[in-house]
Amino acid sequence: MKARFVMVGPPGAGKGTQAKVLTEKLNIPNISTGAIFRSHIAEQTELGKLAASYIDNGNLVPDEVTDALVRDRLSQDDVAAGFLLDGYPRNLHQVDALDAMLEERGEKLDAVIELSIPDEEIVGRLLHRAQVEDRADDTEEVIRHRIEVYHAATAPLTDVYRERGILLPVDGTGTIDDVLNRLVSALESFLG
Ligand code: ADP
Repeated sequence: MKARFVMVGPPGAGKGTQAKVLTEKLNIPNISTGAIFRSHIAEQTELGKLAASYIDNGNLVPDEVTDALVRDRLSQDDVAAGFLLDGYPRNLHQVDALDAMLEERGEKLDAVIELSIPDEEIVGRLLHRAQVEDRADDTEEVIRHRIEVYHAATAPLTDVYRERGILLPVDGTGTIDDVLNRLVSALESFLG
């Protein structure tokens, strides 16, 4: 099965959760830029220190840093059969950067899954997650800023991928299983 996927959606849409279950089901690597940054932050690497100065304020980590990280991850052997990128690309520059990385390998994306939930649900979900996961970027002020960044920088990606005919919008409301079932059937009928 074709399996080069991107997952896009506002903070709190459940990308991480769905990415995890979907990649386990499809047996492909789950590449989350946010999770990679968080593990660097936990290990207090230089990259982690740099990333934290952006992430904690709800801003995007600079493109050259993020692009290099993804390029390196995509050069590893386990992505040959497919992958799911969660959180990358996140702006129009990164769309071009990813295209270039894939083009060098003679590959292209098969589908971009757009998980959406209403803005008013985002804040509640993330404040709840803040209590469970203790993330420094899940305070109300930073959450509101991340939503703005999403609308300004990331939402325009959906137009690009829609025009390419690979955008797959999925309603992210409901239980984890509801969303997963919706997502899998949308993906199956899309890929045929
Ligand atoms: P969420 O989707 O809830 O915002 P993520 O784990 O995807 O959570 O991202 C957390 C933070 O990591 C982002 O707010 C941003 O600062 C940083 N980050 C993740 N991916 C990227 C990216 N592709 N480009 C720049 N910064 C990123």
